Amino acid sequence: MVLLARARALPAIGGRRLSTAASSPDGAIGFIGLGQMGHHMAKHLQSKSDAPFIVYDKSAEAVARFRAAAGRQVEAAGSPAELASRASVIVTVLPESAHVREAYTGSGGILEGIRRGALCIDSSTIDTSVSIDVSQQVIAAGAQAVDAPISGGIMGAQAATLTFMVGSQSAGDFERASAHLAKMGKNVVRCGGLGAGQAAKICNNMLLAISMIGTAEAMNLGMRLGLDPAVLASIINTSSGRCWASDTANPVPGVIPAAPSSKGYSGGFKARLMAKDLGLVASAAKDSRTPLLLGALADNIYRHVAQDPGMADQDFGVVYQWLAGGTAKRG
Ligand code: NAD
Repeated sequence: MVLLARARALPAIGGRRLSTAASSPDGAIGFIGLGQMGHHMAKHLQSKSDAPFIVYDKSAEAVARFRAAAGRQVEAAGSPAELASRASVIVTVLPESAHVREAYTGSGGILEGIRRGALCIDSSTIDTSVSIDVSQQVIAAGAQAVDAPISGGIMGAQAATLTFMVGSQSAGDFERASAHLAKMGKNVVRCGGLGAGQAAKICNNMLLAISMIGTAEAMNLGMRLGLDPAVLASIINTSSGRCWASDTANPVPGVIPAAPSSKGYSGGFKARLMAKDLGLVASAAKDSRTPLLLGALADNIYRHVAQDPGMADQDFGVVYQWLAGGTAKRG
């Protein structure tokens, strides 16, 4: 059954009331992965919880930045195992499948220190089979695990308006996770069993990649036809072409001041992470024998963008520059 909770707007979930208040039946909270998404998510979770808060990131700089920004004292663990030995809820927000495997099952990983009855919430976007395998190892260790990848970008993480797509073994695990996820997002949706959150996430991101490429092409064409990009964007955004890539993250610099494109394509969703997600889409399509036309083209395009060292770590809207540069050369 699909359960939907809008944490503050719709506080009822599965017949029970969701609490976003500070108190939680869980003890200390551990957070691993304080990058572009994790930093903001952890800040909301920490400030809306009264439990002790422990963090770990491979990057000492990311830990120091978070501790400086946190409103109250935050402990830093020396390894995921140490964090797990002290936390009853652990949230991970890591880049790729290999990082999640390392943090959970590697030497000094979560599984070496995990407490019975602890809850692990993985909000990374990773391969569905890796996600299920890691969750099953957590469950075999006497704990609980859910996959809860996110949508909404860095702006959504900052504003705590993310959507969480959750895969869980039981409705009870989902409810326990939801009490924490609701502090970091607006929509918490149970998509099905373990791995179902990852499946929903890659479908969303395939569509996002296609719509970003489409927006970039439409904007580039319009500008070459002499249209002012702000005027064209305002037409699209009040017409049937409107989408998130056009009205919130428009890839043409200056059209939307808050969009990463207006800040040198910084502070957004990296092109290499989009290429990673489209790789997950391609293998899921192969495994499920699903024909993809536009999804395969988007995969090909973002692989090229991610191979450009100047673009790989920029926001994925940089595909506009890649396309505009390409058409300029061809034109
Ligand atoms: P990021 O690269 O900014 O941050 C990742 C953090 O994880 C870094 O601080 C890094 O030091 C740390 N890290 C890496 N390996 C580690 C390990 N083994 N142990 C501990 N820490 C480790 O990435 P991000 O943009 O925050 O994305 C994180 C996840 O969220 C990805 O799976 C991404 O696909 C997904 N996501 C990102 C966005 C976005 O807009 N950035 C949106 C939705 C989903």
